Amino acid sequence: MKLIQSPGGLRLKMKGIMVICDGMGDRPHSEHGGMTPLEAADTPNMDAMADEGLVGFMDVVAPGVPPGSDVAHLSLFGYDPHEYYTGRGGFEAVGAGLSLSPGDVAFRCNFATVDDDLTVMDRRAGRIKEDADKLMPAIRGFRLDVEGLTYEFHHTVEHRGVLVFRGKNLSRHVSDTDPHKVGERILKSTPLEPEEAAERTAEALNQFTLKSFEALKDHPVNLKRIQEGKPPANIILSRGAGTLPTLQTIPQKYGVKASAIAAVALVRGICKVVGMELINVPGATGGLDTNYSAKAEAALKSIKENDLTILHVKATDVASHDGDFEEKRRAIEKIDEMIGVIRREVRGSNVFVAVTADHTTPIAVRDHMGDPVPFLLWGPGVFRSGVGRFCERTARKGNAGRMRGPDLIHELLNYMGFSQKFGF
Ligand code: ZN
Ligand code: ZN
Repeated sequence: MKLIQSPGGLRLKMKGIMVICDGMGDRPHSEHGGMTPLEAADTPNMDAMADEGLVGFMDVVAPGVPPGSDVAHLSLFGYDPHEYYTGRGGFEAVGAGLSLSPGDVAFRCNFATVDDDLTVMDRRAGRIKEDADKLMPAIRGFRLDVEGLTYEFHHTVEHRGVLVFRGKNLSRHVSDTDPHKVGERILKSTPLEPEEAAERTAEALNQFTLKSFEALKDHPVNLKRIQEGKPPANIILSRGAGTLPTLQTIPQKYGVKASAIAAVALVRGICKVVGMELINVPGATGGLDTNYSAKAEAALKSIKENDLTILHVKATDVASHDGDFEEKRRAIEKIDEMIGVIRREVRGSNVFVAVTADHTTPIAVRDHMGDPVPFLLWGPGVFRSGVGRFCERTARKGNAGRMRGPDLIHELLNYMGFSQKFGF
């Protein structure tokens, strides 16, 4: 524990863990007695921490605005997404381990299956896995006829990849080539702003897309797939053009050393861009089968070295998009066990724990919605809510009221002794 002498007196420097349960918030379900998955779940640890700590609800971006996970995480880390959000592709690329320079434009990509008319038959090419690696040399081997532009393509997991355009005078203001629907023709990328840079970028993306088709359609790997009755991965579809935002990192902004435990590329990318050290946890998959106790152990280890550790779990959002109430309930119970490991270890110490979601993903909707999410903040010297349970309903009756996304990290840092005095 660090002790600092500030003009206002002595302040202890404490530690913080922020647990972000992706898409955990939900709505009451008539088929489940009007309960949400969080209410239906057995969550003794979060319930106790909510009871002993601050509880409230949060508009992660603004009331009624459904955020993407990227926008939501920026907001939770204290960055107004209206100012700092520069598209998804840049974060995805960084999360996949690529280094991006200012001005580079990155896209999220899928290996997909199209017919000869370029109509999409399968957006994920049968969720191609290892075969995708064998196609990589073919995709890396062609030239784009746009002056001063080079490209890099990386296969990430399953059918997914990342495309990066490097060079001067590029723009993220271009539309997708991915029609996002089976049965539709691939789209021509067009500039979304009247600027030469966007024209150049759209032109390069259209060339890349058609050249990927030329290079892949008769590729031996695909001919073999067709023989085996599998959909060929004969085109690369791109979406979500993005660049790196210019920002002050978390260590610069708040004076804290921060780390993140997250398995999915997008969240890893955001954490890295805001200056967090990424911690790799064996068995953390970003799926429903993730190793929860390994994540808890990693967070406890990390907090010894860092002031702030972010612990992200994707499973709740995966179950939500599948519309699976029971799976979401089970994921929440596993999260509670994970938080229980942390709670037992740090109880009575100098560690604060915040738990929240990045958005609601109601089972009935299967998509992100703009409802507020519940949060709790637990640790030494925090007011007791006495709400008894941690859920969407008690959050609305909690002792911390309603706040915006960027406020929670500030509240946490304030308890941790890292807040900056405004004025003398
Ligand atoms: Zn999310
Ligand atoms: Zn989602």
